[in-house]
Amino acid sequence: MKSKKKLSIMIIFVGIVALVIFGIFNFVKPTPKISGKNVKAQNSSRKNVISLPEKSDSEEWNLILVNAKNVLSKDPDFQKVAVDQPYGDSGNIYVDQRIQKALRKFRTAAENAGYPTIFISGYRSYDTQKSLYEAAGGSSQNPVLTQRPGASEHETGLAFDLVGQQIWNQVGALQPTQLEAGKDQQWLIINAPKFGFILRYPKGKEAIKQTGIDYESWHFRYVGVKNAEYIMNNNLTLEEYISLLKKAGR
Ligand SMILES: [Zn+2]
Repeated sequence: MKSKKKLSIMIIFVGIVALVIFGIFNFVKPTPKISGKNVKAQNSSRKNVISLPEKSDSEEWNLILVNAKNVLSKDPDFQKVAVDQPYGDSGNIYVDQRIQKALRKFRTAAENAGYPTIFISGYRSYDTQKSLYEAAGGSSQNPVLTQRPGASEHETGLAFDLVGQQIWNQVGALQPTQLEAGKDQQWLIINAPKFGFILRYPKGKEAIKQTGIDYESWHFRYVGVKNAEYIMNNNLTLEEYISLLKKAGR
């Protein structure tokens, strides 16, 4: 009598457990099969989303895109600070205050590695770019100076021209391959992303579709560390990176 009762209690218990497990299984069961085409589309969009840096968004302040096709209509509004100039003339070179700390770290690290730097050019106002453009007659050999006013990245305060002091003392001009040959310039180019900077106009990416600007081994641009490392590791231009973000709905 006693053992029969025990047995029936046990059967009821096992039944309840089975029902619970069945219920959970049904609850978490994946959604119904989707067609091969859908799987493919889902996988490829998921791949992009996963491989892009977390939380990166094309609307971030440090991802502003300025080029011949994306022209500023006026000076962007940001706080300007003077750049430290331990080796050159001090004074009137400015950048966006938000990149000051990263820029200092970058230059200090270069110096500690044995490569002091010279800051050539930073923020340019719309009017400055306009007079440079007019002075160059639109046909100067210097592609940065020939950018129309509003189309130069220098107007964002996030871009600047930086060279190693040693190679600059030898070359003394913005010559891409000659400067690039310097160990100090190499150090700057390779290590920039650790501090949130990219070499904005890399070699082999000069086509209009991409940067539209010749290789410049001295022109750096702040985009933040996670964006910079992604751009560098994947050999992208800023144009390509922003288009990837937009494709991923960011
Ligand atoms: Zn520049």
